[in-house]
Amino acid sequence: PPHGEVILQAREVTRRFGGLVANNAMSLEVRAGEILALIGPNGAGKSTMFNQLSGVDTPTSGEILFRGRAIAGLGARRIAALGMSRTFQHVKVLSRMSVLENVALGAHRRGQRGVLSAAWRLERAEEARLLRDAAAQVERVGLGEVMHDEAGSLALGQQRLLEIARALCSDPCLLLLDEPAAGLRLKEKQALAALLTRLRAEGMAVLLVEHDMDFVMGLVDRVVVMEFGQKIAEGLPEDIQSNPAVLEAYLGG
Ligand code: ADP
Ligand code: MG
Repeated sequence: PPHGEVILQAREVTRRFGGLVANNAMSLEVRAGEILALIGPNGAGKSTMFNQLSGVDTPTSGEILFRGRAIAGLGARRIAALGMSRTFQHVKVLSRMSVLENVALGAHRRGQRGVLSAAWRLERAEEARLLRDAAAQVERVGLGEVMHDEAGSLALGQQRLLEIARALCSDPCLLLLDEPAAGLRLKEKQALAALLTRLRAEGMAVLLVEHDMDFVMGLVDRVVVMEFGQKIAEGLPEDIQSNPAVLEAYLGG
């Protein structure tokens, strides 16, 4: 999609869990080539929003449009096939397998398998293609040197990059990252920020949930702030940092 085009739009999304309103008429937009942060105190409803956007969960009411298509309730697999890919709050790697194998497995689960792939030759060809694609993504996130190491031997920051490489295998135009900087050392955060900046320059859109304000404010183009399931502010990082409602939400929480 062209730079600046709205690719994801949530319109008045509401999610109830029994009597609890986890998301209350939430609206937000993500544009091609921007990094948008979704922030807010614990329990604000950020993960709930993420789960609905990525198809893991379905809104009680409201609409979600991705590249012009209504996707609410479509399911994670079909939404991923449309070009949206996500990582989860907790790292999930197979620690005894190599970095490359971890990424290739992720690519495989996303891949469409046709009837013909049952034939042995095509399976081998498909395997070779998967490994080639996975290796390219491992290089892309800067893990080329540890490609054949066991994933469990990597530092947390590198495991996060591995997960991003896995998410990139489906060739998304939008990446959803749930707390990608959590628990990382300064150097690891810098490597992550550099990667996201590179992806943005290639036209990727990134939506991230993040608690680390230094990381967010130095990196993102726009910020959406949630509290008690609702959007309480939206704007440029420098404006958000001095917004009274935002300061109140964090200090009063
Ligand atoms: P955040 O990610 O901003 O910390 P969440 O979206 O995880 O917030 O949670 C928002 C609110 O919704 C919380 O009060 C949480 O307890 C509640 N909640 C989230 N998921 C569920 C669920 N599956 N069932 C019941 N309540 C939930
Ligand atoms: Mg959360």
